[in-house]
Amino acid sequence: MRAAESPVLRDIVLIGGGHSHAVALRMWAMRPVPGARLSLICTDTETPYSGMLPGFIAGHYDCEDIHIDVRRLAEFAGARYYRDEVVGIDRAERRVICRQRPPVAYDLLSINIGSTPRLGHVAGADAHAVPVKPIRQFGERWRALLERVRQHAGRTTVAVVGAGAGGVELALAMHYRLGRELQARGRDPDELAVHLFSAGPVILPTHNRAVRRAFEGVLAQRGIAVHRDAEVVEVAPGRLRTRRGDTLAADEVVWVTQAGGAAWLAATGLALDEAGFIRVTDTLQTETDPRIFAAGDCASMIGRPLEKAGVFAVRMGPVLAENLRRSLLDQPLKAYRPQRRWLALISTGDRHAIASRGALFARGDWVWRWKDRIDRRFMERFSDLPAMDAMQGKAKPVTAPIPLEAAEQTQAISALAMRCGGCGAKVGASVLSRALARVQPIQRDDVLIGLADPDDAAVLRVPPGKAVVQTVDFFRAFIDDPWVFGRIAANHALGDVFAMGAEAQSATAIATVPPGLEAKVEDTLFQMMSGAVSVLNEAGCALVGGHTGEGRELALGFAVNGLMDETLAGVMTKGGLRPGDAIILTKPMGTGTLLAAHARLAAKGRWIDAALDSMQVSNRAAAACLMAHGARACTDLTGFGLLGHLVEMTKPSGVDAELELDALPLLQGARETAAAGILSSLQPANVRLRRALRNQEAALNHPAYPLLFDPQTAGGLLASVPADRVEACLAELRRLGYVHAAAIGRVLPQGEAVEPITLRI
Ligand SMILES: Cc1cc2nc3c(=O)[nH]c(=O)nc-3n(C[C@H](O)[C@H](O)[C@H](O)COP(=O)(O)OP(=O)(O)OC[C@H]3O[C@@H](n4cnc5c(N)ncnc54)[C@H](O)[C@@H]3O)c2cc1C
Repeated sequence: MRAAESPVLRDIVLIGGGHSHAVALRMWAMRPVPGARLSLICTDTETPYSGMLPGFIAGHYDCEDIHIDVRRLAEFAGARYYRDEVVGIDRAERRVICRQRPPVAYDLLSINIGSTPRLGHVAGADAHAVPVKPIRQFGERWRALLERVRQHAGRTTVAVVGAGAGGVELALAMHYRLGRELQARGRDPDELAVHLFSAGPVILPTHNRAVRRAFEGVLAQRGIAVHRDAEVVEVAPGRLRTRRGDTLAADEVVWVTQAGGAAWLAATGLALDEAGFIRVTDTLQTETDPRIFAAGDCASMIGRPLEKAGVFAVRMGPVLAENLRRSLLDQPLKAYRPQRRWLALISTGDRHAIASRGALFARGDWVWRWKDRIDRRFMERFSDLPAMDAMQGKAKPVTAPIPLEAAEQTQAISALAMRCGGCGAKVGASVLSRALARVQPIQRDDVLIGLADPDDAAVLRVPPGKAVVQTVDFFRAFIDDPWVFGRIAANHALGDVFAMGAEAQSATAIATVPPGLEAKVEDTLFQMMSGAVSVLNEAGCALVGGHTGEGRELALGFAVNGLMDETLAGVMTKGGLRPGDAIILTKPMGTGTLLAAHARLAAKGRWIDAALDSMQVSNRAAAACLMAHGARACTDLTGFGLLGHLVEMTKPSGVDAELELDALPLLQGARETAAAGILSSLQPANVRLRRALRNQEAALNHPAYPLLFDPQTAGGLLASVPADRVEACLAELRRLGYVHAAAIGRVLPQGEAVEPITLRI
């Protein structure tokens, strides 16, 4: 993430990572508006480009070829990326309602969420048909079908419902691919039957007659049965029925008919058309609310109905980016003028395609190659992103200032002054109290004075027979998502308490928030603290107070109090390793290299998703499990990396240890980023400890070697358990959700050598 150079004055929130937003983000990166913060909320970090979907189904592309990595794109554009599903908009409060996180505030909003299959009106379709959208789910079903056809001999019947360009292309692509799979296994291609259903009398009704005739020929030649005037009105397990009463036994029913708007749009109060799509003017503003824009399939242009095609969604992107910019600057908006005729390149599955534009028609393998070139070039715009340093001087930020109201002007001037002075003062009392009033820490009986009656300090009772366990942690935000960052910061701080075998009781927070308009500071603080409180609450830990200041960067830390038996029964210290014990690690490693790679646009979005998910996994249940299996020593893996923390354990224990490099659980992508030499800035300090390694020369080329030094954020627990308990302990850890938990080595008696850690390769 990059620290913004100017205070945040306005929030633009983009819902959905469709084609229009992908284009708009790319353009915004080249011409940002200082003071405007962009946030993208999307359910899928990898958003599919449906133009290449039939090619993927036919086997010409792999999954990565057809997806845009929107996390990476957002990072490139300097936008925040929130992986979540939007379920509503509170227009009165100007907030976007998400399924998981707290509401997200906006000044301008744009919606590009595509269309949603309408299955509800057909009996059984919801339960028994496979809609082509969302494409992620369709992809999973397709992989399952492929596997089924590969594994089970016998006939397979696929029905494709919908005979527009999407349905025809998909039927041909599936037929081609499944036929090849059968051939490759020496089986009869006639084991496969594909049926195409059209509700009307023709296929491809929006295309010219020559195109229709060409496709009818191809379908007939391939033996795909076309059912005309055959509206499907019922789908049951393994069977469908048309309005005329005809039935077909089918193993898979794929739904590619006209879709509608997402159901949640109806409750937003925005004017919708009869199919549930958002009515927009030619500036792409919604008819109802000029602060809200919509583009792509989910938008319905007033007086100019457009076919639902990616072509239009893409062309709307530049106009949308420009109009969001102009709206901020109070400038007149541009009109989007859709082309009257557009070129459709429709493939036949076998690297052959047919071109259709108005009355024009052409076909050939060259048309497929042409389509392939266009599609790949389009995707390269989002995959070949210039590195940040290469962007220096290329991006041309807008120079016109965002018009502000008088009160905002004063706040902006003071925010700028703070920023120039580096670290600032306390966040205003009203901002702080408003933000904290919206988070709800749990109440505990042993908190005598806490946030419910805030005072100069919190007052806590230590229950009889208990001792207090104390720890503190603090770090800068490494990801541009205050809610997720708050969750990870709290989880990281709690890790020390759980590693001791204690229960968390209470926490005080220390935070810095970049200066800006009061409303923006308050919202960032609220997002971050509500993330943190959600984790503290889950851990049974009450937030009892804290201090917040303005600083150049977002940062958060906690002093956490835990409780444990005053006799220290059950305590897990670092010095408890015993020769013969097995060493267990409960979570995969690699957060340091992955986050460094993310900042350089060198990590895949899904790797970062998985790393962030892992950082949010609590160590609480793991600690209890380790204790129950006789763990004698434990620590949580954080900044010193595996080797640093292991040495912290072997030294006071007076033992040596052996590590199995092949057994180290690693986060997806960590090997790749480390192998590319992308390492955390803390790595060099950790590498100094390599002197503790007995046979490092032999291990230098092992892919996991650099990860021995990788600093972890909210890492797993590193613990020892008696060797005879290790299998049961691992089985239980995995049952608890620590699916990567592994035995990574064993404790040895102390030898003569000064290097206590032996690496096994
Ligand atoms: C098989 C097939 C082939 C096609 N081929 C072509 C073609 O060759 N050329 C062409 O022009 N068109 C083609 N189309 C049509 C094309 O798919 C659509 O017109 C296009 O995808 C619409 O793009 P969009 O930007 O509106 O949204 P989409 O591309 O559908 O993207 C929507 C995005 O919003 C996200 N999202 C959805 N709901 C939410 C939510 N509630 N919260 C957060 N995020 C959300 C999704 O994850 C996704 O990232 C084809 C369609 C099909 C089915």
